[in-house]
Amino acid sequence: MRHLAACILLTLLLVGCAAPADPDKAQESIQVIAMDTAMLITTYGERSSAAAYAAEDVIRDLEKQLSRTKEDSVVSQLNAAGRRMLVEGDLIPLLSSSGWFYELTSGAFDITVAPVVSAWGFTTDSFQVPSQEELHELLKLVDGSEVSVTPAYDDGEGTKATVRLGPGQSIDLGAIAKGYAANKVLEVFREYGLPRAKAELGGNVLVLGDRPDETPWRVGIQDPKRPDDPNGFIGVLELTDSFAVTSGGYQRYFEENGKRYHHIIDPSTGYPADSGLTSVTVVADCEMENGTMCDALSTALFIMGEEKALDFWRSGGVPDSNFELVLVTEDGRVLITEGLADRFVRDESSGYSYETIS
Ligand code: ADP
Ligand code: MG
Repeated sequence: MRHLAACILLTLLLVGCAAPADPDKAQESIQVIAMDTAMLITTYGERSSAAAYAAEDVIRDLEKQLSRTKEDSVVSQLNAAGRRMLVEGDLIPLLSSSGWFYELTSGAFDITVAPVVSAWGFTTDSFQVPSQEELHELLKLVDGSEVSVTPAYDDGEGTKATVRLGPGQSIDLGAIAKGYAANKVLEVFREYGLPRAKAELGGNVLVLGDRPDETPWRVGIQDPKRPDDPNGFIGVLELTDSFAVTSGGYQRYFEENGKRYHHIIDPSTGYPADSGLTSVTVVADCEMENGTMCDALSTALFIMGEEKALDFWRSGGVPDSNFELVLVTEDGRVLITEGLADRFVRDESSGYSYETIS
């Protein structure tokens, strides 16, 4: 009996000692299907589980507010109301950012492209090629400069502002919402004091700290020619404390009469962007607003094409913010801007040629 008691005491001591010694032993990994995307959140540290589920809550709350396909979302209500509406919550900063990136990208990023996205069937998955006449009519509604937001105020129950759209306009936040969600997930990770974590919200990746073995996180960049091959990378980014966001025509598309139509629409033509790029990856440090910036830019620079995208990068296109790029071209080149060169590991067997851009 005494022997048994000693054994129990010893076991308790061992268990008690082992648990808190290594925070990396406390790890949580959860999958979240939201915003039309399979997401993966991996967290480390003593509060890893609570942080992962708090991040999930934040994402689900955003989806509820911002989805165009959920009738009771604020965005759906605004689109139905048309012209003018009092709104609250995350839509307010998102609309400000959207206006900002509309200006900076000379209209390549434009949330009022919504009716055109719908005409192609990307909102409902009933894909079709719209007629020239239909696109011509719908393009009259596409003009991000007509969206305005009054300064936000707090009425004691939350932040509010009045949003105005142009006549007949509607908005689609698909190109920026996941980046904004990544900002908020970072906020959660910091709140819970996590030493390291990774959130993959589809093409929007956030890495906090480094990996448990103290090497950088590895973020593969998909070869646009091999979208279904889970190991089909053109290279790997080695990152710590960063956002990395990829947009590509291979991610969501349909085919008709042997032609492929993807979901990133050039607001100047109403057609899927055909700029000679097959994917754009934007990388920036873990500053709070950078998730949104990377998401908006990956979409816009994909539309702008190689020359304009590199000019935008060279001229420091976003005041007071730094970002780096990996562009993949239709004719088999991978262009890496110099600030990223030593964090990009090429896959020489991919068949692409690689250039560092300065
Ligand atoms: P994903 O959502 O696949 O990560 P993006 O961030 O590039 O890719 O966003 C594409 C989505 O953004 C489209 O599905 C559509 O809803 C919307 N969109 C398409 N073209 C534009 C555009 N020119 N400006 C803003 N949003 C757009
Ligand atoms: Mg985007």
